[in-house]
Amino acid sequence: MNLPGATETMRYRAYGPRHLSEIASRFSLDAEFLRNAQLVCRVIPFRVNEYVLSEMIDWDAVPDDPMFQMLFPQPGMLSDADVQRLEEAVADGKRAERDTVRQIQARLNPHPSGQREFNVPLLGGESTSGLQHKYRETILYFPQQGQTCHAYCTYCFRWAQFVGDSEIRFAAVEPSQLVAYLADHPEVEDVLVTGGDPMMMSTERLREHIEPLLSVPTVRCIRIGTKALAYWPYRFVDDEDADDLLRLFERVIDSGRNLAVMAHVSHGRELGTDVVREAVSRLRATGALIFCQAPLVARVNDAPSVWSDMWRAQLAMGALPYYMFVERDTGPHDYFKVPLSDAVAIFQTAYSSLPGLARTVRGPVMSTTPGKIVIDGVEQSPDGRFFRMRFLQARNAGLVGRPFRAPFSEHASWLSEIGPLTADTPDDIAKAVRSAGESQ
Ligand SMILES: *Cc1c(COP(=O)(O)O)cnc(C)c1O
Ligand code: SF4
Repeated sequence: MNLPGATETMRYRAYGPRHLSEIASRFSLDAEFLRNAQLVCRVIPFRVNEYVLSEMIDWDAVPDDPMFQMLFPQPGMLSDADVQRLEEAVADGKRAERDTVRQIQARLNPHPSGQREFNVPLLGGESTSGLQHKYRETILYFPQQGQTCHAYCTYCFRWAQFVGDSEIRFAAVEPSQLVAYLADHPEVEDVLVTGGDPMMMSTERLREHIEPLLSVPTVRCIRIGTKALAYWPYRFVDDEDADDLLRLFERVIDSGRNLAVMAHVSHGRELGTDVVREAVSRLRATGALIFCQAPLVARVNDAPSVWSDMWRAQLAMGALPYYMFVERDTGPHDYFKVPLSDAVAIFQTAYSSLPGLARTVRGPVMSTTPGKIVIDGVEQSPDGRFFRMRFLQARNAGLVGRPFRAPFSEHASWLSEIGPLTADTPDDIAKAVRSAGESQ
C-alpha cells in the first residue's frame, strides 16, 4: 500500500461531505454508493484527509476494505426507510432536512453511558465544563479546541458532537477550573486529555492546557487520547510544530511525571507506513509511553488474526496493547455490533497466541455507566452457561475485581441485552449491573 513518495512530507488537508463527489471520481466509487454516502453523511459525520485516502485505504478491496468501512458512510448504516425519508426531506428544503436529520440522530442513542448527565464535577457548588470525574484517580479533560479529529470513524461514540449537537459541546476553553479542582482533589493522580482528538490542537494551544498541570504536585501522569498515529502521524514527525510538541512531552517527563499517549489503533494497517513508524520512534525517544486501544467493530476488525497481528506489531514497535473495547450502543450500532459471545471468542483466540509481553491487553471491555466491565470468558456449569465478568473500573471502587456471572446469550451485544443476574449475585454488584442495563 505504500505509494511511491509516501513518506514525503504531506500537508494536512481535510475533505468533508462537500468533497464526496470529487473523491468518488478520483477512486471510481459508483454513483449509487455516492448517492447513499451523500445522504448518510448528514446524520453520521464524515471527514477524511489525504493521508488516510492515499495510504490507509486499499482501493482494490473497496467496499469491504476495513479502513474504507471505518472512514466512509456505507449503505446499511441507516435503514432503507431512513435513507428514503432523508432523500425526500433534502428535496423539501433545508428546514425539512434539518428536522429529519435530528429525528434520525435522536433515535441513534447519541449520548451513550450517561456521558452528559453523570460525572460532571462541581467547583464551589457550580458545575464545571470540559471535565468528567468518574474513577477516583483519573479525571477526563476535554479542551475545546480538541473536539474534532483528523478524520472521523463511522463507528465513533462521540459522533453527535461532530454533526453539530451543540448541547454536548461541553468543553474547556482553558484549564483554570481543572487546576482548581485538582487542588481540592489530591486523590486524582491522572489527567486524561481527550476529545475528539487533542492532537488537533497546535502545540502552542496544547501547551496552554498542559503546562499549568505541572504546577500541581499531586498529578503524576498526563495521558493524551489520540488517533493521530493512525489518521495523521505527521503530527509527530514534520508538522510545523512537531518538534515543539515532542519538547513539550519531554518537559512533562522531565518534571517527574509520566506522559502516556493513549493511541486509538483499530487495525494493523494503521501501523504499517514509514511515517507512523517514525512517529512512534520519535514519541518513544521523548520517554513517553504508548498504550493502544480500540473497539471491536464488525467489518473493521472482527477477526482474531487482525488483533493478534496488530498486538504483535504494537509490541514490536514498543507500544503496549491495553484495551479491546466492546463497541457502544450508539450511531450505526446494528451495522457494527459484534455479539458478546463472539467478542469473547475473538479476544481469547487472539490473546492465546500472544507472547507474554503482549498479554498486557484486557478485553472485551464494556464501558458502562457504573464502570468498565471485562468479560473474562464463558463458564459452563451444571446450572447452565454464563459469562464471567468483572469490574476493572467502577465509580464505586468496592466493586472492582469481584467476579460475577451473567446469563449467557448468543446474540446480546451489550449488557442491557442480557437477562437478570442470578439470585446469589451480591446486592451491590446486581444493582450496579442493573443500572448499566437501564441507562443504555
Ligand atoms: C476508561 C476511562 C478512564 C480511564 O480508565 P483506565 O482504566 O485507567 O484506563 C477514566 N475515566 C473514564 C470516564 C473512562 O471511561
Ligand atoms: S478518532 Fe475517536 S473521537 Fe475521533 S472520530 Fe474516531 S472514535 Fe471518534
